[in-house]
Amino acid sequence: MENTSIYIHIPFCKHRCAYCDFNTYARQEDSIPLYIKALINEIEAVTSLKPNPINVHTVFFGGGTPSLLSAPQFDSVLQALRAAFTLTADAEISIEANPGTTSPEKLDAIRKAGINRISFGVQSANTEELRMLERIHDFFTVIQSVADARKAGFDRHSYGVNLDLIYGLPEQTLSTWQTTLQRIVDLQPEHISAYALTLEHGTPFGRWSSKGLLPLPDPDVAAEMYEYAEEFLEDSGYVHYEISNWALDRGPLTTDRSSQSTVHRPPSFACKHNLQYWHNLPYLAFGAGAHGYANGYRYSNVLRIKTYIERLSQPSAFRPLPFPLSPATVNQHKQTLKDDMSEYMLNNLRLTNAGVTESDFRLRFRRWLLDVYPKEIEELIQNGLLECKTSEAPANGETSEVYRLTKRGRLLGNQVFVRFV
Ligand code: SF4
Repeated sequence: MENTSIYIHIPFCKHRCAYCDFNTYARQEDSIPLYIKALINEIEAVTSLKPNPINVHTVFFGGGTPSLLSAPQFDSVLQALRAAFTLTADAEISIEANPGTTSPEKLDAIRKAGINRISFGVQSANTEELRMLERIHDFFTVIQSVADARKAGFDRHSYGVNLDLIYGLPEQTLSTWQTTLQRIVDLQPEHISAYALTLEHGTPFGRWSSKGLLPLPDPDVAAEMYEYAEEFLEDSGYVHYEISNWALDRGPLTTDRSSQSTVHRPPSFACKHNLQYWHNLPYLAFGAGAHGYANGYRYSNVLRIKTYIERLSQPSAFRPLPFPLSPATVNQHKQTLKDDMSEYMLNNLRLTNAGVTESDFRLRFRRWLLDVYPKEIEELIQNGLLECKTSEAPANGETSEVYRLTKRGRLLGNQVFVRFV
């Protein structure tokens, strides 16, 4: 039976950051108890539709700020999941947390409840940059939160700690970014994510930028920041396994790009949940604004907390829906083969070491990759954005072509992805 993943959205934040366009709401924490009930109702409603038992190997509480939930609230959602699905013995169960919203007692209790990976939204180690982002923490709070997480057991016997960063920030220089990376590596997290700042329409940052009021670094400097992160993190022992993600590895791993036989397996502390997305494998979604992909559907839930709670307040009135849709679903799309192949390319090419293997593509879609995307692949290789090497397929030792982003392709990923849409 194929393993599935579960995403649970917690749309509450203490304060809305100036760059954020996630589905999250400030000062609505009073609704958390009713929201938890609605989540449990949604889990039960979807489970009642499932055709067969489902193995779940990752659960991800994302947000928003999931760490605003209490340990008993996490526990009740996890109990509902355990009653509804078969959680594998080694399931990765992650939460996103904001530094300063996790007391030692809470960390201890959620670790005991079964959560075994924590991802802190650090963004920067520079006080001025954090202030510009309107984050509620400073870097001393990060140091304390990571120390508390370690004491609670988020360590190398679990799936450890991730620290999220953003680069290309207003007023940021290459030098402040270098200091941030050094301070982050000093904390020895198992996993590091670094995303470029994107200016989203409708956010204060989007508005200030369109009026020329946001002192952003030059795009060439932002590219230098990315290249510096690639070199510095690899020199610090982190394996660059996805465009924006690095992780420690327990065992030997071939990362030599010139090698004709490159190991495909991700590093030990790679995020299993995100690998499910990047491998275009199924995940169920619960919560306001959550997006899922399962049973041939891409689907998403209603955004507003109040409407979400209302839609799930009377489970007895639920009419049967196709699995995995729920009364909260507002968008659903039945995937075509073309959709799946296109998304497979977009997602798998993000994996800098693994890339897209011809034999895996053929196994999944029963089509030759070069028959489906001949022109796209040829042009991307000619333009130096994609490279092709012969490598061993992981399962049967059969040699197969592997397509990966080049160094330039990693910087200009969107120019690659758009060719497969
Ligand atoms: S803490 Fe995260 S989710 Fe919440 S407003 Fe800030 S960026 Fe958005």
